[in-house]
Amino acid sequence: MDNCIFCKIVKGEIPAKIAFDGKRVIGFYDINPQAPVHILLIPKEHIPTILELKDKELKDEIFSAITEIGKEEKLKNGFRLVVNIGRDSGCEVLHLHFHILSGRRLDWPPG
Ligand code: 5GP
Ligand code: ZN
Repeated sequence: MDNCIFCKIVKGEIPAKIAFDGKRVIGFYDINPQAPVHILLIPKEHIPTILELKDKELKDEIFSAITEIGKEEKLKNGFRLVVNIGRDSGCEVLHLHFHILSGRRLDWPPG
C-alpha cells in the first residue's frame, strides 16, 4: 500500500534491521525500542489490524514465526507479545504488527 511505512520496509524502500525473514512475514527491529530487544513482526502484505486478518495460512505463519523467534537465545528470559488495535491502544501504524519485547523486566500491568 502506498504511503504505508511498513509496506515501504517490506519493499526495501525504507531501511530496517531484519530479525526474521519468512515467506509471507518479516520481523525487524523497532526504530524506537521500548526494551533491549524490540522486534516488530508483520505480514508482508498490507493488512490494517488483526481484525482484518482472515487468511488461516497467514495466521499459522505468523504464529509459527513468533514461536521460532521466541525460542531464540536473546529471548531466553521471556518476552512480551503486544498487538495494539485502535485509538485507545495508542496504535500508530495501520499495518498489522506484533511487538516482541524482551531483554529486561517488563512492568505488569502495563500503563
Ligand atoms: P504502534 O504504536 O502502531 O503499535 O507501533 C508502531 C511501532 O513502529 C512503534 O514502536 C514505532 O517505534 C515503530 N516504527 C515506526 N516507524 C518505524 C520505522 O520507520 N522503522 C522501524 N523500524 N520502526 C518504526
Ligand atoms: Zn502496509
